[in-house]
Amino acid sequence: MTKTTQEIQSIDNTHHLHPFTVHHELREAGPRVITRGEGVYLWDSDGNKILDGMAGLWCVQLGYGEQELVDAATDAMKTLSYYNTFFQTTTPHATRLSQLIAEKTPDGLDQIMFGCSGSESNDTAIKLIWYYWNLQGKPEKKAIISRERAYHGSTVAGASLSGLPFMQGIFDLPLPRFHHVGPTPHYYEYGNSDESEREFGLRCAKAIEDKILELGPENVAAFAGEPVMGAGGLMLPPEGYWQEVERICRKYDVLLWSDEVICGFGRTGEWFGCQTYGYTPDIMTMAKGISSGYQPLSAVAINKRMSDAIVNADSEMAHGYTYSGHPVVCAVAVRNLELITEKKLVGERGQATSEYFLKQLSLLDDHPLIGQTRGVGLLGGIELVKDKTTRERFSPDGTAGVTCRNHCFKSGIIMRAVGDTMFLCPPLVITNDEIDELFRLVRISLDLTLEELKP
Ligand SMILES: *Cc1c(COP(=O)(O)O)cnc(C)c1O
Repeated sequence: MTKTTQEIQSIDNTHHLHPFTVHHELREAGPRVITRGEGVYLWDSDGNKILDGMAGLWCVQLGYGEQELVDAATDAMKTLSYYNTFFQTTTPHATRLSQLIAEKTPDGLDQIMFGCSGSESNDTAIKLIWYYWNLQGKPEKKAIISRERAYHGSTVAGASLSGLPFMQGIFDLPLPRFHHVGPTPHYYEYGNSDESEREFGLRCAKAIEDKILELGPENVAAFAGEPVMGAGGLMLPPEGYWQEVERICRKYDVLLWSDEVICGFGRTGEWFGCQTYGYTPDIMTMAKGISSGYQPLSAVAINKRMSDAIVNADSEMAHGYTYSGHPVVCAVAVRNLELITEKKLVGERGQATSEYFLKQLSLLDDHPLIGQTRGVGLLGGIELVKDKTTRERFSPDGTAGVTCRNHCFKSGIIMRAVGDTMFLCPPLVITNDEIDELFRLVRISLDLTLEELKP
């Protein structure tokens, strides 16, 4: 017998610890129970239909219920439910996936290592970077620089690399060797009125150079950044910023690491964010859209410089996971990447959808609650403000965002809030009609939010 919503909530409250949650609040409210998904829509246990404007957690590129991915998983599971890639073995699906990814990454990034989550791939990247410098005979080159407000996952290393103090202090993080620089490259919030966006971008890049010089270039292993900063607030890089960061990394022989966990697999228009913004990293990490979220999967790609050192090393690269290159997971990802290609989601259709989406997003600018809209590909950010001209917020602790998010849910649309920034990140398969519906629901939610917040 199927359980009622209340029964599920009660069991959940008794036994289930949730990620990033204030548990006493969750227990009071009771979790929302999601039971079904199809295309860009979800249904909850009370039968409400909800347009998922967040593609799950930035990952469901192909939307929900794609039969081809179900079939890929079923076939793979029937043939070989599991085998590992330790001890000089491989499986056809893992091999094929590594080849497919290498074809899509920038030239030279041709060696792929698999994991199960973005955080895991970032842990792997850190270890490969440290290992690389040890192999180069530069064991002192270990510091890793990232940015304030970056999100790089929540394992011990991922949280250390992230630039979000609320994730760190309660766990006595970050670990040593992790350094964070500001200003965060987000002109709307941190730019000075007397500097252009480009000048501001150069100032942000200069802060990285200053940190490298402060630590001593001989001690700095890598700089890590998301092409578009995601979970920290959907912040787009200023024009010229990434080129300058790349130049600085080359100058001081610091490895450039692109965390593509959100931006990869068509999210910003190209296969990867570094291609959209025109820079070439030494190392990339990816997850989320790699499997459209149908299976837990992540990957690290390294360039020839790093792979030559590792492949030619005498020592064993003693690192890896039981599920690295899991055959069922890789089979699903292979089909996912093929479908993204076949459906031209990176290419004509993706471009047309993005143009339509960004146009509709910009039409929200006239709404009294909105200080700025911004976007790239199929990513959108919306700033909620009390005063459009002064950009004054409703309150410093971002309560307008939560109010808006709750109205969204009630109106049948999922937008996520971080502070007073609302995010949109719909499945890449969304149609123009569905985009119309999405923004109709967003507008309703904004009106309701304004109504509630109006003094
Ligand atoms: C989500 C995310 C991660 C962490 O991925 P998980 O699969 O949740 O471990 C890392 N980096 C970025 C940029 C992310 O958005």
